[in-house]
Amino acid sequence: MPKDILCPCCSGKEYRNCCQPLHEGVLPENALQLMRSRYAAYVLNLPDYIISTTHPGSPYYSENIFSWKRSLTKFSRGSTFHRLEILDFKEKDTLATVTFTAFVSQNDHDATFTEKSYFEKTKDRWLYRGGQLSDGRAPNMVTTGQLRLLPLAYYGEPVLRRMADQIEEINDDVKKLVEEMIETMNACEGLGLAAPQVHHSIRLFVIRTPIETEDGVELGPVQVFINPHLSAPSNETVSLSEGCLSIPTIRAEVERPVEATLTYTSLEGERMERRLSGWEARVVMHEYDHIEGILFIDRLDPSEQAKLQPFLNNLEKRLHDGKAL
Ligand SMILES: [Zn+2]
Ligand SMILES: [Zn+2]
Repeated sequence: MPKDILCPCCSGKEYRNCCQPLHEGVLPENALQLMRSRYAAYVLNLPDYIISTTHPGSPYYSENIFSWKRSLTKFSRGSTFHRLEILDFKEKDTLATVTFTAFVSQNDHDATFTEKSYFEKTKDRWLYRGGQLSDGRAPNMVTTGQLRLLPLAYYGEPVLRRMADQIEEINDDVKKLVEEMIETMNACEGLGLAAPQVHHSIRLFVIRTPIETEDGVELGPVQVFINPHLSAPSNETVSLSEGCLSIPTIRAEVERPVEATLTYTSLEGERMERRLSGWEARVVMHEYDHIEGILFIDRLDPSEQAKLQPFLNNLEKRLHDGKAL
Protein backbone atom coordinates (compact mmCIF):
# COMPACT_ATOMS: atom_id res chain seq x y z
CA MET A 1 0.00 0.00 0.00
CA PRO A 2 1.19 3.59 -0.63
CA LYS A 3 3.29 4.85 2.25
CA ASP A 4 1.43 8.14 2.76
CA ILE A 5 -2.02 6.60 3.04
CA LEU A 6 -4.16 7.89 5.90
CA CYS A 7 -4.52 5.35 8.67
CA PRO A 8 -7.77 3.34 8.41
CA CYS A 9 -8.26 3.84 12.16
CA CYS A 10 -9.50 7.38 11.37
CA SER A 11 -6.87 9.10 13.51
CA GLY A 12 -6.07 11.49 10.64
CA LYS A 13 -2.40 10.39 10.79
CA GLU A 14 -0.46 8.49 8.15
CA TYR A 15 -0.67 4.71 8.48
CA ARG A 16 3.10 4.34 8.80
CA ASN A 17 3.12 6.76 11.76
CA CYS A 18 0.01 5.31 13.37
CA CYS A 19 -1.15 1.68 13.30
CA GLN A 20 1.49 0.14 11.02
CA PRO A 21 4.14 -0.21 13.77
CA LEU A 22 1.50 -1.87 15.99
CA HIS A 23 0.55 -4.28 13.23
CA GLU A 24 4.25 -5.10 12.95
CA GLY A 25 4.65 -5.92 16.64
CA VAL A 26 5.02 -2.67 18.62
CA LEU A 27 2.82 -2.89 21.73
CA PRO A 28 0.05 -0.28 22.04
CA GLU A 29 0.40 2.21 24.90
CA ASN A 30 -3.19 1.89 25.97
CA ALA A 31 -6.45 0.14 25.21
CA LEU A 32 -7.68 2.98 23.00
CA GLN A 33 -4.69 2.58 20.72
CA LEU A 34 -5.31 -1.16 20.62
CA MET A 35 -8.98 -0.63 19.79
CA ARG A 36 -8.04 1.68 16.90
CA SER A 37 -5.36 -0.66 15.56
CA ARG A 38 -7.77 -3.61 15.73
CA TYR A 39 -10.33 -1.63 13.73
CA ALA A 40 -7.61 -0.81 11.19
CA ALA A 41 -6.68 -4.52 11.10
CA TYR A 42 -10.28 -5.38 10.20
CA VAL A 43 -10.20 -2.77 7.42
CA LEU A 44 -6.87 -4.08 6.08
CA ASN A 45 -7.82 -7.75 6.57
CA LEU A 46 -5.06 -8.66 9.03
CA PRO A 47 -6.70 -11.58 10.89
CA ASP A 48 -3.44 -12.58 12.62
CA TYR A 49 -3.38 -9.23 14.39
CA ILE A 50 -6.98 -9.61 15.59
CA ILE A 51 -6.23 -13.12 16.86
CA SER A 52 -2.98 -12.21 18.63
CA THR A 53 -4.68 -9.31 20.47
CA THR A 54 -7.72 -11.28 21.67
CA HIS A 55 -7.72 -12.46 25.29
CA PRO A 56 -8.26 -16.21 25.78
CA GLY A 57 -11.19 -15.30 28.06
CA SER A 58 -13.01 -13.48 25.26
CA PRO A 59 -16.23 -15.12 24.05
CA TYR A 60 -14.86 -14.59 20.51
CA TYR A 61 -11.68 -16.55 21.23
CA SER A 62 -11.47 -19.83 19.34
CA GLU A 63 -9.08 -22.73 19.66
CA ASN A 64 -9.67 -23.41 15.98
CA ILE A 65 -7.37 -20.74 14.56
CA PHE A 66 -7.93 -21.84 10.98
CA SER A 67 -11.71 -21.37 10.98
CA TRP A 68 -11.39 -18.24 13.14
CA LYS A 69 -9.07 -16.70 10.53
CA ARG A 70 -11.45 -17.66 7.76
CA SER A 71 -14.43 -15.99 9.43
CA LEU A 72 -12.39 -12.82 10.19
CA THR A 73 -11.32 -12.62 6.56
CA LYS A 74 -14.90 -13.17 5.43
CA PHE A 75 -16.01 -10.28 7.66
CA SER A 76 -13.23 -7.98 6.41
CA ARG A 77 -13.80 -8.76 2.74
CA GLY A 78 -17.59 -8.61 3.00
CA SER A 79 -17.68 -5.24 4.76
CA THR A 80 -17.10 -1.64 3.74
CA PHE A 81 -15.65 0.35 6.60
CA HIS A 82 -16.68 4.01 6.45
CA ARG A 83 -15.64 5.54 9.72
CA LEU A 84 -14.82 4.91 13.35
CA GLU A 85 -16.09 7.19 16.09
CA ILE A 86 -14.81 6.87 19.66
CA LEU A 87 -17.52 7.72 22.18
CA ASP A 88 -15.80 6.97 25.47
CA PHE A 89 -12.54 5.63 26.92
CA LYS A 90 -11.91 4.67 30.55
CA GLU A 91 -8.84 3.03 32.00
CA LYS A 92 -7.98 1.84 35.50
CA ASP A 93 -4.79 -0.15 36.16
CA THR A 94 -5.13 -3.34 34.11
CA LEU A 95 -8.67 -2.79 32.83
CA ALA A 96 -10.20 -0.47 30.29
CA THR A 97 -13.37 0.09 28.32
CA VAL A 98 -13.68 1.80 24.94
CA THR A 99 -17.10 2.60 23.54
CA PHE A 100 -17.17 3.22 19.80
CA THR A 101 -19.44 3.32 16.79
CA ALA A 102 -18.17 1.58 13.66
CA PHE A 103 -19.89 2.84 10.52
CA VAL A 104 -19.92 -0.25 8.35
CA SER A 105 -21.98 -1.57 5.47
CA GLN A 106 -22.33 -5.10 4.18
CA ASN A 107 -23.69 -5.81 0.68
CA ASP A 108 -24.90 -2.20 0.51
CA HIS A 109 -26.85 -2.60 3.75
CA ASP A 110 -26.07 -0.46 6.75
CA ALA A 111 -24.40 -2.62 9.41
CA THR A 112 -23.32 0.20 11.72
CA PHE A 113 -22.93 -0.90 15.32
CA THR A 114 -21.92 0.50 18.68
CA GLU A 115 -19.83 -1.57 21.04
CA LYS A 116 -18.72 -1.07 24.58
CA SER A 117 -15.56 -3.11 24.44
CA TYR A 118 -13.62 -4.32 27.41
CA PHE A 119 -9.82 -4.69 27.53
CA GLU A 120 -7.49 -6.40 29.96
CA LYS A 121 -3.75 -5.94 30.40
CA THR A 122 -1.63 -9.02 31.05
CA LYS A 123 2.08 -8.41 31.64
CA ASP A 124 2.72 -5.46 29.22
CA ARG A 125 0.08 -6.40 26.73
CA TRP A 126 -3.38 -4.96 26.31
CA LEU A 127 -5.78 -7.59 24.98
CA TYR A 128 -9.40 -7.45 23.82
CA ARG A 129 -11.58 -9.23 26.38
CA GLY A 130 -15.08 -8.81 24.94
CA GLY A 131 -17.81 -6.33 24.28
CA GLN A 132 -21.46 -5.50 24.59
CA LEU A 133 -23.00 -4.78 21.20
CA SER A 134 -25.95 -2.78 20.03
CA ASP A 135 -27.23 -1.92 16.57
CA GLY A 136 -26.64 1.47 15.03
CA ARG A 137 -25.62 4.48 17.05
CA ALA A 138 -26.23 3.91 20.73
CA PRO A 139 -24.78 6.77 22.76
CA ASN A 140 -26.81 5.50 25.73
CA MET A 141 -24.19 2.77 26.07
CA VAL A 142 -21.70 5.38 27.26
CA THR A 143 -21.51 5.19 31.01
CA THR A 144 -20.46 8.21 32.95
CA GLY A 145 -18.33 8.05 36.06
CA GLN A 146 -15.65 5.56 36.94
CA LEU A 147 -14.69 2.24 35.48
CA ARG A 148 -16.22 -0.34 37.77
CA LEU A 149 -14.80 -3.56 36.39
CA LEU A 150 -12.63 -5.81 38.53
CA PRO A 151 -9.60 -7.83 37.40
CA LEU A 152 -10.34 -11.56 37.27
CA ALA A 153 -8.22 -14.20 38.97
CA TYR A 154 -7.37 -16.89 36.44
CA TYR A 155 -6.49 -20.56 36.72
CA GLY A 156 -3.19 -20.93 38.57
CA GLU A 157 -3.69 -18.04 41.03
CA PRO A 158 -3.58 -19.11 44.70
CA VAL A 159 -6.65 -17.04 45.69
CA LEU A 160 -8.80 -19.54 43.77
CA ARG A 161 -7.55 -22.34 46.03
CA ARG A 162 -8.11 -20.66 49.40
CA MET A 163 -11.03 -21.33 51.77
CA ALA A 164 -12.71 -17.90 51.83
CA ASP A 165 -13.41 -15.99 55.08
CA GLN A 166 -16.81 -15.24 56.61
CA ILE A 167 -18.07 -11.68 56.13
CA GLU A 168 -18.45 -10.09 59.56
CA GLU A 169 -20.36 -6.99 58.55
CA ILE A 170 -22.15 -5.90 55.36
CA ASN A 171 -20.53 -2.46 55.24
CA ASP A 172 -20.09 0.02 52.38
CA ASP A 173 -16.97 -1.79 51.14
CA VAL A 174 -18.92 -5.04 50.74
CA LYS A 175 -21.80 -3.20 49.01
CA LYS A 176 -19.40 -1.49 46.60
CA LEU A 177 -17.70 -4.82 45.86
CA VAL A 178 -21.09 -6.41 45.11
CA GLU A 179 -21.91 -3.64 42.60
CA GLU A 180 -18.54 -4.02 40.89
CA MET A 181 -18.88 -7.81 40.83
CA ILE A 182 -22.27 -7.54 39.11
CA GLU A 183 -20.83 -5.17 36.52
CA THR A 184 -17.88 -7.51 35.92
CA MET A 185 -20.10 -10.59 35.64
CA ASN A 186 -22.28 -8.83 33.08
CA ALA A 187 -19.31 -7.56 31.05
CA CYS A 188 -17.78 -11.05 30.97
CA GLU A 189 -21.13 -12.65 30.15
CA GLY A 190 -20.87 -14.98 33.14
CA LEU A 191 -23.82 -16.66 34.86
CA GLY A 192 -22.15 -16.24 38.22
CA LEU A 193 -19.11 -14.71 39.89
CA ALA A 194 -17.61 -15.48 43.29
CA ALA A 195 -15.51 -12.99 45.30
CA PRO A 196 -12.30 -15.12 45.08
CA GLN A 197 -12.54 -14.80 41.28
CA VAL A 198 -11.96 -11.06 41.69
CA HIS A 199 -9.16 -11.50 44.27
CA HIS A 200 -11.30 -11.16 47.43
CA SER A 201 -11.13 -14.23 49.64
CA ILE A 202 -14.53 -13.74 51.28
CA ARG A 203 -17.75 -15.76 51.29
CA LEU A 204 -19.81 -13.91 48.70
CA PHE A 205 -21.07 -14.61 45.20
CA VAL A 206 -23.51 -13.17 42.69
CA ILE A 207 -25.46 -15.01 40.00
CA ARG A 208 -27.69 -14.06 37.10
CA THR A 209 -30.49 -16.58 37.61
CA PRO A 210 -30.87 -18.60 34.47
CA ILE A 211 -34.53 -19.25 33.67
CA GLU A 212 -35.47 -22.13 31.41
CA THR A 213 -37.73 -21.15 28.54
CA GLU A 214 -38.90 -22.97 25.41
CA ASP A 215 -35.96 -21.51 23.47
CA GLY A 216 -33.33 -22.48 26.00
CA VAL A 217 -31.98 -20.52 28.92
CA GLU A 218 -32.74 -16.84 29.52
CA LEU A 219 -31.19 -14.59 32.12
CA GLY A 220 -33.30 -13.45 35.03
CA PRO A 221 -32.47 -10.96 37.79
CA VAL A 222 -29.15 -10.80 39.62
CA GLN A 223 -29.04 -12.40 43.07
CA VAL A 224 -26.50 -11.81 45.84
CA PHE A 225 -25.51 -14.44 48.41
CA ILE A 226 -23.46 -13.60 51.51
CA ASN A 227 -22.05 -16.21 53.93
CA PRO A 228 -23.94 -18.98 52.12
CA HIS A 229 -24.17 -22.55 53.37
CA LEU A 230 -25.26 -25.50 51.23
CA SER A 231 -26.85 -28.54 52.84
CA ALA A 232 -29.12 -31.53 52.21
CA PRO A 233 -28.03 -32.32 48.63
CA SER A 234 -30.44 -34.63 46.80
CA ASN A 235 -29.33 -38.19 46.09
CA GLU A 236 -30.34 -37.71 42.51
CA THR A 237 -27.56 -36.19 40.40
CA VAL A 238 -27.32 -34.78 36.90
CA SER A 239 -24.43 -34.26 34.49
CA LEU A 240 -24.28 -30.84 32.81
CA SER A 241 -21.67 -28.92 30.83
CA GLU A 242 -19.88 -26.23 32.87
CA GLY A 243 -17.39 -23.50 32.16
CA CYS A 244 -15.80 -20.88 34.38
CA LEU A 245 -14.67 -17.26 33.83
CA SER A 246 -11.44 -18.15 35.66
CA ILE A 247 -10.73 -21.08 33.32
CA PRO A 248 -11.67 -19.67 29.90
CA THR A 249 -12.07 -21.93 26.84
CA ILE A 250 -12.36 -25.11 28.96
CA ARG A 251 -15.73 -26.83 29.34
CA ALA A 252 -16.61 -30.21 30.78
CA GLU A 253 -19.57 -32.29 31.93
CA VAL A 254 -19.84 -32.11 35.72
CA GLU A 255 -22.04 -34.36 37.83
CA ARG A 256 -23.79 -32.64 40.77
CA PRO A 257 -26.89 -33.11 42.94
CA VAL A 258 -30.12 -31.93 41.32
CA GLU A 259 -31.24 -30.08 44.46
CA ALA A 260 -29.79 -28.63 47.66
CA THR A 261 -30.80 -26.25 50.43
CA LEU A 262 -29.10 -22.86 50.56
CA THR A 263 -28.96 -20.74 53.70
CA TYR A 264 -27.51 -17.27 53.16
CA THR A 265 -27.58 -13.63 54.19
CA SER A 266 -29.08 -11.14 51.75
CA LEU A 267 -27.47 -7.79 50.95
CA GLU A 268 -30.04 -6.27 53.32
CA GLY A 269 -28.66 -8.43 56.12
CA GLU A 270 -31.54 -10.87 56.37
CA ARG A 271 -30.84 -14.59 56.92
CA MET A 272 -32.76 -16.66 54.33
CA GLU A 273 -33.24 -20.32 53.44
CA ARG A 274 -34.31 -21.81 50.13
CA ARG A 275 -34.51 -25.18 48.41
CA LEU A 276 -32.80 -24.82 45.04
CA SER A 277 -33.28 -26.85 41.86
CA GLY A 278 -32.64 -26.63 38.11
CA TRP A 279 -30.15 -24.15 36.71
CA GLU A 280 -30.22 -22.02 39.83
CA ALA A 281 -29.01 -24.98 41.93
CA ARG A 282 -26.31 -25.75 39.38
CA VAL A 283 -24.91 -22.20 39.24
CA VAL A 284 -25.06 -21.79 43.03
CA MET A 285 -23.18 -25.10 43.54
CA HIS A 286 -20.47 -23.99 41.10
CA GLU A 287 -20.07 -20.59 42.82
CA TYR A 288 -20.24 -22.14 46.29
CA ASP A 289 -17.30 -24.34 45.32
CA HIS A 290 -15.29 -21.17 44.55
CA ILE A 291 -15.56 -19.90 48.13
CA GLU A 292 -14.42 -23.35 49.31
CA GLY A 293 -11.35 -23.17 47.04
CA ILE A 294 -12.72 -25.80 44.65
CA LEU A 295 -12.85 -25.54 40.83
CA PHE A 296 -15.23 -27.47 38.57
CA ILE A 297 -12.31 -29.38 37.04
CA ASP A 298 -11.70 -30.95 40.50
CA ARG A 299 -15.12 -32.62 40.19
CA LEU A 300 -14.19 -34.61 37.07
CA ASP A 301 -13.03 -38.20 37.30
CA PRO A 302 -9.24 -38.72 37.20
CA SER A 303 -9.11 -39.99 33.60
CA GLU A 304 -11.04 -36.91 32.44
CA GLN A 305 -8.72 -34.66 34.46
CA ALA A 306 -5.65 -36.28 32.93
CA LYS A 307 -7.04 -35.60 29.47
CA LEU A 308 -7.63 -31.93 30.32
CA GLN A 309 -4.27 -31.31 32.00
CA PRO A 310 -2.27 -30.44 28.85
CA PHE A 311 -4.97 -27.92 27.85
CA LEU A 312 -4.94 -26.43 31.36
CA ASN A 313 -1.15 -26.10 31.35
CA ASN A 314 -1.29 -24.40 27.98
CA LEU A 315 -4.09 -22.08 29.12
CA GLU A 316 -2.27 -21.13 32.31
CA LYS A 317 0.77 -20.14 30.27
CA ARG A 318 -1.30 -18.09 27.83
CA LEU A 319 -3.22 -16.33 30.59
CA HIS A 320 -0.11 -15.36 32.53
CA ASP A 321 2.16 -14.52 29.57
CA GLY A 322 -0.43 -12.32 27.92
CA LYS A 323 0.19 -13.96 24.57
CA ALA A 324 -2.88 -15.29 22.91
CA LEU A 325 -0.87 -17.54 20.65
ZN1 LIG B 1 -4.11 4.19 13.15
ZN1 LIG C 1 -16.30 -20.50 38.12
